[in-house]
Amino acid sequence: MIPVAEAIQIVREKTSQLDSESVPLTDALGRMLSEDIIADTDLPPFDRSQMDGYAVRAADVQNVPARLAIAGESAAGQGWHHEMHAGDAVRIMTGAPVPLGADSVQQVELTREVDEGKVVEILEPVSLGRSIVRRGNEIRAGETVLHAGEQINAAMIAVLASFGYASVRVGAQPRVAVLATGSELVAVDQKPGRDQIRDSNNYSIRAYAMLAGARVELFPLAGDEISSLKNQIAAAVERSDVLVTSGGVSMGVYDFTKAALRELGAEILFERVALRPGKPTVFARLPNGVLIFGLPGNPVSVSVTFNLFARTSLLLMQGATEPLLKEEWAVLARGLKGSPDRESYLPAKLTTNDQGHLLAEALKWGGSSDFVAFAQATALIILPAGVKALEEGARVKVVRLPR
Ligand code: AMP
Ligand code: MG
Repeated sequence: MIPVAEAIQIVREKTSQLDSESVPLTDALGRMLSEDIIADTDLPPFDRSQMDGYAVRAADVQNVPARLAIAGESAAGQGWHHEMHAGDAVRIMTGAPVPLGADSVQQVELTREVDEGKVVEILEPVSLGRSIVRRGNEIRAGETVLHAGEQINAAMIAVLASFGYASVRVGAQPRVAVLATGSELVAVDQKPGRDQIRDSNNYSIRAYAMLAGARVELFPLAGDEISSLKNQIAAAVERSDVLVTSGGVSMGVYDFTKAALRELGAEILFERVALRPGKPTVFARLPNGVLIFGLPGNPVSVSVTFNLFARTSLLLMQGATEPLLKEEWAVLARGLKGSPDRESYLPAKLTTNDQGHLLAEALKWGGSSDFVAFAQATALIILPAGVKALEEGARVKVVRLPR
């Protein structure tokens, strides 16, 4: 049995980054940047007004009301490109360039036009520079604004658009094959017979793999018979980078996943992790380089082990610089028991209390097969191996589950 951190380290070492590809900006959401993004213009590109109002010289409006002659108008997209003289004002709109000679903008609410729009009365003084964002104040041309290895979110799409990235280089999506083993399984559209259950792992693995940026193909359910399992694994890895199986890795008489992998020439990189749930998780590599995550069959173990190991690998394949679930501190809402020899990842709900502290409340659940209770989990509480029990109020590390 190896510690979780060591297992993750092995996954990191054995994963190689895939090529990058160029995608249109409209397809870039959720993809991993594989180039640094450089500003090609200053932002703002000119001294910009933040308000609708009048561009003025602050010194002209210290004694109010101040009467200024309206020399022109600067609108967004259509500036007034002359020099503004002392005693003058220029009517200006939000987003419009501030004319040369003006040093401040007074907002329209504190002004009044008179003399048929020839004169404006400024009703309140302005401080120098008021409501002007100077050219290059946000970003200067040539600066790196986003970095390779960051996952593109909706806010970053605006950054890419602003700097002219009609297309952008991203990591190729890993192709993931998903294969559930177990003679008790029937397809989702079947009524389970006696002793049978519907397969859910294929679908949850597919969902988690998609959240990790992969392209996923589901393969027909495999039973617990070694030779057909072998054939189905061989078929599933033909056009994929990663295979994720579920079930058949425990100590039962019909647990054949590892045997089938060995017969296919796979190198087993680890097969027992000091993890609760998820001890029998297998990580292997086939001679053709395809990585295999053999997850235990229990649906909750699937979620924990997928997100600790397979997710890390899939993000690294795309070039992620932060492939691990981010750890945060929280306070236990209820006491918890640990395990003497395994690190625990316990399903929990996160809330905040009146002091603004993050609270983690372990789910009341029936163990690693209770996927109905698990559907309410938003995070996992991490208890180090050897911690016997923790009281309510203890500080614990948590990771949020991808959702
Ligand atoms: P195993 O790891 O094959 O011993 O399976 C452990 C438990 O998970 C058993 O109760 C299985 O019935 C259940 N299980 C295995 N595969 C699936 C699946 N694809 N969907 C739902 N439950 C499963
Ligand atoms: Mg099984």
